[in-house]
Amino acid sequence: MDALIARASSGEGLAPAPRRGADHIAPDCAGQNFYAIDRGLRDLLKLHLTPDDFSRLEPHFDRLGALAGGRLDELARIADRHPPVLQPRDRFGRDEDWIDYHASYREMEQIAFGDFQFHAMSHRGGALGMDRPLPAVAKYALQYLFVQAEFGLMCPISVTDTSIHLIRKFADAELKEYLLPKMLSADIATQWKGTQFMTERAGGSDVGAIETVARQQDGAWRLYGDKWFCSHADADVALLLARPEGAPAGTKGLALFALPRRLKDGSRNAYRIVRLKDKLGTRSMASGEIALEGALAYLVGRPDQGFKQMMEQVNLSRLSHGVRAAAMMRRCVNEAMTCARTRQAFGKTIIDYPLLRRQLLKIALPAEQSLSMFLFAAHAMDRANAGNKDAESLLRVLTPLLKFRACRDNIPVATGAMEVRGGNGYIEEWVQPRLVRDAHIGVLWEGTSNINALDIVIRAVGKSRAHQALETALVKLLDAATLAPAVFRDRLRQALGRALRFAEQVAAEPAREDNARKAASALYHVASAVLMTWEAAQPGTDARRALYSRLILEHRLGAQDPLAPDENEWEREATEILLSERSVSIAEIAGLLV
Ligand SMILES: Cc1cc2nc3c(=O)[nH]c(=O)nc-3n(C[C@H](O)[C@H](O)[C@H](O)COP(=O)(O)OP(=O)(O)OC[C@H]3O[C@@H](n4cnc5c(N)ncnc54)[C@H](O)[C@@H]3O)c2cc1C
Repeated sequence: MDALIARASSGEGLAPAPRRGADHIAPDCAGQNFYAIDRGLRDLLKLHLTPDDFSRLEPHFDRLGALAGGRLDELARIADRHPPVLQPRDRFGRDEDWIDYHASYREMEQIAFGDFQFHAMSHRGGALGMDRPLPAVAKYALQYLFVQAEFGLMCPISVTDTSIHLIRKFADAELKEYLLPKMLSADIATQWKGTQFMTERAGGSDVGAIETVARQQDGAWRLYGDKWFCSHADADVALLLARPEGAPAGTKGLALFALPRRLKDGSRNAYRIVRLKDKLGTRSMASGEIALEGALAYLVGRPDQGFKQMMEQVNLSRLSHGVRAAAMMRRCVNEAMTCARTRQAFGKTIIDYPLLRRQLLKIALPAEQSLSMFLFAAHAMDRANAGNKDAESLLRVLTPLLKFRACRDNIPVATGAMEVRGGNGYIEEWVQPRLVRDAHIGVLWEGTSNINALDIVIRAVGKSRAHQALETALVKLLDAATLAPAVFRDRLRQALGRALRFAEQVAAEPAREDNARKAASALYHVASAVLMTWEAAQPGTDARRALYSRLILEHRLGAQDPLAPDENEWEREATEILLSERSVSIAEIAGLLV
């Protein structure tokens, strides 16, 4: 272990990237540049960023792509094997708790918070040489590249970013002045990182059941209670929900507070990290339980608006979770393809077997869908931030759609990629076991699948009518995709109409609530199919994306007979093209879209 620590902290000693397997063992992606090999990402960034932003930021995408396939990947592997350790007391017996992290984690923090400044890039200029905040499209693309190597640390990165958003938007001037300069700093030695504690034993989904109490004592707020799931447990400032004494029950009575780890005189605030969770995944990052023992906290915004304000942070996190799922699925695709193109069985390379090719497509399709969906959502966020109300509405429905479906898809995709590598995929020195373990958290935090599906159908569709903005946006894209065959666009138009009507039906009748996941999946699939057709029809874009649209229409939105063999000649041809390393124009594949 000491040797590993030395290696991680010295910045030297990385094994040369094994580009070829040895003695029959297929290689992995070590040494690849995850930006350079991702044609889809490169194409779509050109569609969603201005040419000026794209040319300024591309060197950073490229640099992070190389890091993700290199140094970051190596650090992530080591950090996963050496999880954080809680030290509850100092040697004098004082409750000065702290968490020890492995040097590999600290080096990743330096890359994320010091070099790339993920936490601040949406809030001020100065990150990556930009004289203004980065567009959301660029931020999420960078998260996507980073998470292909390291998932655990993206929680502290993202939650610091979203905490800054809440403080900037809702805190009073004095609190902003106290917190923001520290939180926006790029000096990781003095910087304050953020987090968010909501969940208690009484409820995670049922936030209104929160029991933590806020009391006013000597002109300050003091918090009493327990938080049961606290990721980034030792953050410098936590945003949390508590009920001021006398406030009504349920979410209406919850206020939002900022809880500093240390007080202004440098002493420890009155709360303790009681223990760390022994988790299935995200093992590099510390999640713990917190006991609040009269801790000093600052009210953020109005006391009766706490839940509503916190939901802004939750929604931002949900979008980032969708991006993280997309990233892990991309890593699965890269790993599966790298292995399948090399591994030999029965005298052939395994990618040549039709049944394996089908499995590869099942891994690639959800990954490509999530890429299109997260960049579409990020682009809507950029337009919403510029004051566009339709884009705000669009983002309202896209966020839980992405979180719900991409996080669910990540699980079978990770398992599928493990299976492509065979037995080695089950062994911890390869990345697949970590991808399988990390995939599962996506369906839990920031709302389970059910909670997100209900949010989509009951609130985004039923109450906010946000699906209308989705319809308008997708119809516009279909109209613009004139290079795609008209018959195919008509099929997509019909599927879109049916999916929207289905969601409305479920939203209108509470007795149909058990259809919420089905309706949400239909919306996600049809939206991604339309998007991919539009993307494929743009000049200079690899038109293979339209073949994915057809696969979605046939397999995700069309009826299947489980008792009949698939006799799809078009699909065999499409598979051939999709698994090749050659891009195509839409004219070349038009015959496969009708
Ligand atoms: C590793 C990890 C880290 C976490 N970090 C944080 C953190 O930093 N901050 C934080 O606040 N929380 C955190 N969480 C908590 C997480 O957000 C919750 O666990 C999650 O929201 C689910 O809440 P719960 O555990 O109370 O489950 P429950 O709410 O009890 O849910 C149990 C089941 O009931 C279902 N269910 C509940 N209500 C309904 C309904 N109305 N209709 C249909 N089904 C329903 C759920 O879908 C779920 O399947 C973390 C969790 C984990 C595992």
